[in-house]
Amino acid sequence: MLVNAHDHLSHYKENTAKALDMINNLQIITLANGQTVEEYASIQAVAEKCPYIKKGFGIHPWSVDEQTSLENLEPYLADADFFGEIGLDYFWEKRSQFYGRQREVFGFFLEQAEKYHKLVNIHTKGAEREILSYLRSHQLEATIIHWYSGPLDLVKDYLDLGIYFTISVDAGVSALTKELIRRLPMDRILTETDGPDSSEWLGLGYGFPDRLLAIMDQIAKVKGISEREVEERVYANYLRLGL
Ligand SMILES: [Zn+2]
Repeated sequence: MLVNAHDHLSHYKENTAKALDMINNLQIITLANGQTVEEYASIQAVAEKCPYIKKGFGIHPWSVDEQTSLENLEPYLADADFFGEIGLDYFWEKRSQFYGRQREVFGFFLEQAEKYHKLVNIHTKGAEREILSYLRSHQLEATIIHWYSGPLDLVKDYLDLGIYFTISVDAGVSALTKELIRRLPMDRILTETDGPDSSEWLGLGYGFPDRLLAIMDQIAKVKGISEREVEERVYANYLRLGL
């Protein structure tokens, strides 16, 4: 089984049917992240049609200005298979007036994850050190750090907390990601494509879910193992998440 541990199914828009065909044909377990209440509703609708989809509810650090209230979210929190995408971003998000709100929303979701015993799928850009201290002060079931690109000297601290890392679409492009793959033990690696625009941003074209195969190929090359073994190890890691 293939594992896409961080996708944005609601971003495929007119290409949703094609993306779903791929997910069904390749049997890709897909952790579909929602970043607003509206996106979560669309993920719920798609998940009804596809057995491989795990529903993620979160408020993305870029969307904290749209979601002004944290009241009345219980139906989504209870229904979701995991919480994501959540996190902090002090790098891409230039509107520093929302940083305080980002921390309120992120803290809220970590508390809910403790309460509901749900996995979290986290965006860490520019806040890698701070997020580590948040994670140390919460008892979480399972944590996925999505597309890590922060200081490599923090990786061991994250690993010591039992955290899993996704390798994303810049495998084969980014020297930092290559080094990250080298440093991570195979029992903590997951694979992901993120949304279709992430591949476009890298100049790799529209990012359909089958891009996962190229990422697995890159992991196999760096680790010196077969693609088959990468698939088996990543799937074993997924099973330990308890989703
Ligand atoms: Zn994402």
